Amino acid sequence: MAFDDLLAGFGSWTEQVRGRLSSNFDIAPFTWFRVGGPAQLFFNPADEADLAFFLKNLPEEIPVTVIGLGSNLLVRDGGVEGVVIRLSGKAFSDVSVTDDLVVKVGAAMPDMRFASQMARQGVAGFSFYKGIPGAIGGALRMNAGAHGSETKDRLLGARAVDRKGHIHDLTPDDLGHGYRSCNAPSDYIFTEATFQGEPGEAKALKAEMDEVSAYREDNQPTKERTGGSTFRNPDGMSAWKLVDEAGFRGFKLGGAQVSQKHTNFLLNLGDATAEDIERLGEMVRGKVRAMTGIELHWEIKRIGNFPEGVVIKPFLEDK
Ligand SMILES: Cc1cc2nc3c(=O)[nH]c(=O)nc-3n(C[C@H](O)[C@H](O)[C@H](O)COP(=O)(O)OP(=O)(O)OC[C@H]3O[C@@H](n4cnc5c(N)ncnc54)[C@H](O)[C@@H]3O)c2cc1C
Repeated sequence: MAFDDLLAGFGSWTEQVRGRLSSNFDIAPFTWFRVGGPAQLFFNPADEADLAFFLKNLPEEIPVTVIGLGSNLLVRDGGVEGVVIRLSGKAFSDVSVTDDLVVKVGAAMPDMRFASQMARQGVAGFSFYKGIPGAIGGALRMNAGAHGSETKDRLLGARAVDRKGHIHDLTPDDLGHGYRSCNAPSDYIFTEATFQGEPGEAKALKAEMDEVSAYREDNQPTKERTGGSTFRNPDGMSAWKLVDEAGFRGFKLGGAQVSQKHTNFLLNLGDATAEDIERLGEMVRGKVRAMTGIELHWEIKRIGNFPEGVVIKPFLEDK
């Protein structure tokens, strides 16, 4: 499938854009699941000013979606209408540390690389990121966390560009982080985070990170095509347990499977479509609700369109 070429209708202002613009661009390789249709227009800004310029000039009816490293994301098979923005490169990956251990880090910096860099510099507080395969922008949006720590814990602030191209400096209150959630307006594209680190010892921090990595290897499908935790944990409960008790461990639908290793992870076995994965997720939700009355809510963000003729009804099992 292919979308109409948006660029053709934009006019000459796009000549001043310094980043990369690509029509009908395949974004599946930028996601962990490796499925889904193209972005109508893909934009890789050169830096924050370029991003702001682009958004200011982009006609307001064009929808904008931002993606990070695609580790909590399912792109539907019909592709994503409008513009998909992905931050990458040095301008969005810089890290600086002051004498007071105030750390500024660009939104495209991968969490794992950030953890390693902080450990090498003897800055403590970020080892938990060694187990999270996203980037800092996604961590801000999802309040990513693990092993008793969350993104919000050490956060002093963040920068974001809104849909109109205005730049905002945000406080933790503005961000309103909760469990895997953030209350900042949904159009905000994070470009940078500021954290408070604390003094640490490189060798001890390396050992902490090794422990995080070993735990991951033992407990999660870290080398497969997956989207991380599929469902949010309901209050006081574990989503994986509800999925397991509903009998889904290892269950397959088309090319998708509920992981044997961790039942809150869905897998693309190699030839899954986004439809297989989403249908499997909905089937799980339906059965869990029928058995327990508990509604599981997607943690994975699903973006884009269903292909023509495809309808995935929530809670399939009830219908
Ligand atoms: C094997 C595996 C293990 C995982 N373990 C954990 C874990 O322990 N803890 C945990 O919290 N998560 C975990 N995840 C999920 C995932 O890594 C996190 O949610 C991560 O923060 C997502 O970041 P990302 O860059 O991949 O974002 P994406 O998946 O690309 O996007 C996720 C959301 O963030 C938004 N977003 C991305 N970048 C920006 C930006 N710059 N500005 C605004 N919004 C943005 C997107 O629009 C989307 O809504 C795991 C995933 C996998 C595959």
